[in-house]
Amino acid sequence: MNFSVTVLGTASAIPNSKRNPSSQLINIHERYFLVDCGEGTQIQIRKNKQKLGKINHIFISHLHGDHIYGLFPLLSTYNLLDRTSPLHIYANKNLEKILAFHVQYFISNQKFEIIFHTLPEGESINLYEDDHVLITAFPLQHSVPTHGFLFKEKDRLRKINKHKIKEYNIPVTQIMNIKNGASYTTKEGKLIPNNKITLDPPPARRFAYCSDTAYTESILPFVENVDLLYHEATFKENEKERAKTTQHSTAKEAATIAKLAKAKRLLVGHFSSRYKYLEALKKEAQIVFKETELAIDGETYIIPEKIIYPL
Ligand SMILES: [Zn+2]
Ligand SMILES: [Zn+2]
Repeated sequence: MNFSVTVLGTASAIPNSKRNPSSQLINIHERYFLVDCGEGTQIQIRKNKQKLGKINHIFISHLHGDHIYGLFPLLSTYNLLDRTSPLHIYANKNLEKILAFHVQYFISNQKFEIIFHTLPEGESINLYEDDHVLITAFPLQHSVPTHGFLFKEKDRLRKINKHKIKEYNIPVTQIMNIKNGASYTTKEGKLIPNNKITLDPPPARRFAYCSDTAYTESILPFVENVDLLYHEATFKENEKERAKTTQHSTAKEAATIAKLAKAKRLLVGHFSSRYKYLEALKKEAQIVFKETELAIDGETYIIPEKIIYPL
C-alpha cells in the first residue's frame, strides 16, 4: 500500500531556476492530495509524471502568494480539460472570495463544482476521512492565519496467518470475522485465540506538513511520532532574528521540533533564495536531528510499510 510524498517545490517567497514555490502531492493508497499550490505547480505535476485528474482535494496552508499563485491556472486547466468531478479546496475563508473573482473572469462555462471548506483560524479540525485516511489541520504560527496538515493512515485489519488457516482447516467464511478480531472454534470444540491465527497489521503511517511557521512547540501534539515530518527551514541559525520577525524557522529549530516530536525522519524545505547551496542548512539540522534530509524539487519520499512476518 503506497504512502508517498512528492515534493513539487522547495523555494520560499522568491523562486529560482532550481527551486519552485511550495507544493506537495501526497499519495496514500492511490488517493492523491495536493498541499499548497505555488506558482508553476501544474507544470511541476506534469514534469514529474503525476496526473492532474487524480487530485480531488487541495489543502492550502495560508494565503501567501508562494503557496497559492499556482491554484488559479490549475483551475482554468481543469475546466479546459472538461473536468466534471467536484474539487474540494480547504483554506482560509478569504480564499473563497479571491476564487470567486477568478472564476467570474477567467472560467467561462464552469464544468466542475468547487466545494470550499473553511479552515477555522487558530483551531484544529478533521478535514477528510475515509476507510483508509484521516487528514487533520492544526494551527501554525505565522504572520497570517496558517495551518499545518497531518495525514494519517488508519489502522488496518489484522493479517491472516496463512499457515495457521491451513493447520486448523479454517473455512473461508470465517476469514473476515477473524480479520476483525474474532477467535475460532474448531469442529472438535477447541477455541483458537485470535492472536494464534493472525498477525498484527503493519503500523499505521503518518506524515505532517508544517509550512510556514515560526518555531512553536504548540504543534508537538499533532506531529508526535510521525514517520515523516516536513518542516520549513527558511533560514540558517545565524539569521535567527530574521526568522523570528518574519515568523519562519531556522534549520536548527526545525530539527529541534523533529527531535522533541520523536519523528522518524525530517524533511526540511521552504529555503530562502539567499542560499544557493543548502548543505550548511542540512548539517546544522543534523547536529540536532540526524535523520534530516533536504527536500528536493521533483523527489518522491516513500514512507515504507513495516512488514511483519509470521513466526
Ligand atoms: Zn511561504
Ligand atoms: Zn508564508
